[in-house]
Amino acid sequence: MPRGITEPDKHGHFGPYGGMFVPETLMEPLNELAREYAHVRLDKEFHRELDFYLSEFVGRPTPLYLAERLTRELGGAKIYLKREDLCHTGAHKINNSMGQILLARRMGKKRIIAETGAGQHGVATATVAAMFGLECVIYMGAVDMERQALNVSRMRRLGATVVPVTAGQQTLKEAISEAMRDWVTNVRTTHYILGSALGSHPYPMMVRDFQSVIGREARKQILKKEKRLPDYLLACVGGGSNSIGLFYPFIKDESVKMIGVEAGGEGISDGKHAARFAAGKLGVLQGTKTFVLQDANGQIMLTHSVSAGLDYAAVGPEHALLRDLKRAEYDFATDAEAMNGVNALCRLEGILPALESAHAVGWLIKNKSRFTKDQIVIVNLSGRGDKDVTSMENWDREHAVAPQS
Ligand SMILES: *Cc1c(COP(=O)(O)O)cnc(C)c1O
Repeated sequence: MPRGITEPDKHGHFGPYGGMFVPETLMEPLNELAREYAHVRLDKEFHRELDFYLSEFVGRPTPLYLAERLTRELGGAKIYLKREDLCHTGAHKINNSMGQILLARRMGKKRIIAETGAGQHGVATATVAAMFGLECVIYMGAVDMERQALNVSRMRRLGATVVPVTAGQQTLKEAISEAMRDWVTNVRTTHYILGSALGSHPYPMMVRDFQSVIGREARKQILKKEKRLPDYLLACVGGGSNSIGLFYPFIKDESVKMIGVEAGGEGISDGKHAARFAAGKLGVLQGTKTFVLQDANGQIMLTHSVSAGLDYAAVGPEHALLRDLKRAEYDFATDAEAMNGVNALCRLEGILPALESAHAVGWLIKNKSRFTKDQIVIVNLSGRGDKDVTSMENWDREHAVAPQS
């Protein structure tokens, strides 16, 4: 794997960000994980096994698809979609779950735990656990269980135990806290498959590495199709795993600009959003130092997004460094702009995107005048939208949009 300019030090510091801000009881398991990962990272046999399952089970490589009608409609750059929505289980999350479960097997762990927000990471983890015959427990906020009921049903059908978390805002942050509590208690038998490029070292680096297959493929595919690199990469940023997975293999290609799109929710001014770079401050949340939405007393603020998968108060630490280095740019799209993205992709391309991915599409529509006909943009379509149809219908109803007839 080519090392980028953002390679962390051995304690996981990405410049001033990242690190290992955890209770003493978690230091030993995290250090063990970091050691094991450092080992498999260089192990050809591990990568052969991972590549085998990514191709035979996940369905990689995913297509890089030229969105012709969307391109014509926006009248500017040629738009390619990296189709992570076509991965088995419907999102990019399984790239990471597959990598981590192969690592867990090597470490002799018999039990898998995970947190989930939108439910896609829970489904991906329940899937690989079923496939390898390991026990699986998924922690999920009670609010998220309601808005992503389809995925709860899928996880249970796959044999996972889904534990509702009713603390606090009852979304992703509380689910991560519960999973960490479980891990402390059961660490001898259990591996915690964290679902994004977040948390303590080694997770941000390890998850990035497993998701970098997205950018490696996209780079090869665009060079084959267009005989040149793209001008822009565009991806939504929740914790930051699908975006860093696309960006990382292009980091040294200085001509390629990168744009991460956060959840603007109902707008930045009224505070109902999850745009950490627009309104957050440097802080520590759940193991890592990064941009965090917090009040003047350091209390974590409530977040809002129409998409459960972007609804988190902290952003992955490597993104904070990429922003400092001006290697990537971060902006946001509101709920309404994401819904525009959903409807445009459905009507123009026959693709129902996840609400998360639709933030990148909605941002592109809003900013179409920035792009010219001679440019190429790759948009990461991180997942498919089946899980979100109820949220979309509710949004239409609450905003008096005529029913889709
Ligand atoms: C989880 C999820 C996201 C957000 O997570 P990242 O780690 O930022 O990628 C985006 N899109 C989909 C479809 C997801 O399931």
